[in-house]
Amino acid sequence: MQNGEVSFWWQARGLPPRRPPLPGSTDADVAIVGAGYTGLWTAYYLKRADPGLRVVVLEQHFAGYGASGRNGGWVTATLPGSRTRYARGPQGPAGVRELERQLRETVDEVARVSQAEGIDAGLVKGGTLSVATSAAQDARLRQRLEQERGWGDGPGIVRYLEKDELAARVQVTGAIGALYWPDCARVQPASLAAGLAAAVAGAGVSLYEDTPVRSISAGLARTDAGDVRAPFVLRCTEGFTADLPGQHRTLLPMNSSMIVTGPLSEAAWKAIGWDGCETLGDEAHAYIYAQRTADGRIALGGRGVPYRFGSGLDHDGAVADSTIAQLGRILRRMFPAATGAGLDHAWCGVLGVPRDWCATVTMDPRTGLGWAGGYSGHGVAAANLAGRTLADLVRGVDSPLTTLPWVGHRSPRWEPEPARWAGVRGLYALYRTADRVETAGRSGRTSLLARAGDVISGIPH
Ligand SMILES: Cc1cc2nc3c(=O)[nH]c(=O)nc-3n(C[C@H](O)[C@H](O)[C@H](O)COP(=O)(O)OP(=O)(O)OC[C@H]3O[C@@H](n4cnc5c(N)ncnc54)[C@H](O)[C@@H]3O)c2cc1C
Repeated sequence: MQNGEVSFWWQARGLPPRRPPLPGSTDADVAIVGAGYTGLWTAYYLKRADPGLRVVVLEQHFAGYGASGRNGGWVTATLPGSRTRYARGPQGPAGVRELERQLRETVDEVARVSQAEGIDAGLVKGGTLSVATSAAQDARLRQRLEQERGWGDGPGIVRYLEKDELAARVQVTGAIGALYWPDCARVQPASLAAGLAAAVAGAGVSLYEDTPVRSISAGLARTDAGDVRAPFVLRCTEGFTADLPGQHRTLLPMNSSMIVTGPLSEAAWKAIGWDGCETLGDEAHAYIYAQRTADGRIALGGRGVPYRFGSGLDHDGAVADSTIAQLGRILRRMFPAATGAGLDHAWCGVLGVPRDWCATVTMDPRTGLGWAGGYSGHGVAAANLAGRTLADLVRGVDSPLTTLPWVGHRSPRWEPEPARWAGVRGLYALYRTADRVETAGRSGRTSLLARAGDVISGIPH
């Protein structure tokens, strides 16, 4: 079994030939730091809107090296933040509804551009399932459905599936019921990143790889190879942001880990079903997420080691053996028919979490400094919407996107160490214990441990 090496997704399609690094100091109209989905989508829409713009993208490794080439491949319309917190903005609840509507449309926008640009990323819009495997999880699902209805989401946006309805789609051992949202697609994440990078480079964006940016200030991105001077400098570094000067407490690099099976036999797929390729998660506090891959495997992810002291990063995605074992146990429990396929690869990556778990898209017209991120694990579609929004903000266009409630949102800073480390580790220890308690008991009550964790962490529900 392979461990790390960035991700299975990259190994499966082959690592791309490196683009050259920045050859020396240069001027541009827009400098973008980071070639994940956020940076690439921003560059894409800027060039589409104004082909004459000189756009430079600076990437420390290669396009899609970060979360964008390692994620679970859920192109999800899930709000990357809290409705209640966003509703405190000037647009109130209507602004939140509009942001959610835009996110749902974004799933189709990603599909549209993939097709238009000839990006073969195995995209299938099969919706997403959140499956309950204990009475407490099921009670949470039903409560959540009520909340969704309270926010005006009808059955076309989310609905409850009884056990039999769920089983007709996919066989998950111990499942009691599920919520189903149709607005989600499955994708091969690295193929999407690679295709997007090719589209962006093809459109005339200067995409430099192996070019770490050492500092960002108004009008300037500084690298070892030289400076890029531009009236607009955009930070699109999500989980890596803490490494930049002055940004140590802006976004917490939360770790997420994944495993993938070998290809399942026809008999195993017959037993499991899953012909609709819905993305699938559970309703545990330390939740998992999974997809049926285009090449007939199951890829499943979860938290593993949630956070490394001092906002530390992984080494090219290498995962601890204990995490692989833990995810493997969950996989075999949920999908016993997949056991024979074994495990082919494990990897991990970091996603950016703001202190209030609410993503931001922002640009200061006085300094020309902008950034987007903090999607808290819901960034695949959100990065597209953020990229379109950043492009509008840079061009000074008033659009329906530039008034969405995440634009200009300010999150508090994270606590300094060791409080940050102790807090996040403690939180996930609480969640895991709460999950064990809920699974062992038959009560439909959410464990008090988890409730305490939610209050301390501020995780939105
Ligand atoms: C394991 C895992 C599973 C996930 N699953 C899902 C999912 O299924 N659905 C979903 O919606 N979201 C998911 N996410 C989150 C989602 O992948 C991210 O939110 C999204 O990819 C963020 O894109 P980005 O471009 O902002 O950041 P990234 O993709 O992390 O890109 C940032 C880029 O910036 C570069 N960079 C950083 N610092 C510098 C610097 N100083 N100089 C130059 N370059 C720099 C990095 O090398 C990187 O390429 C997951 C994340 C992980 C880690």
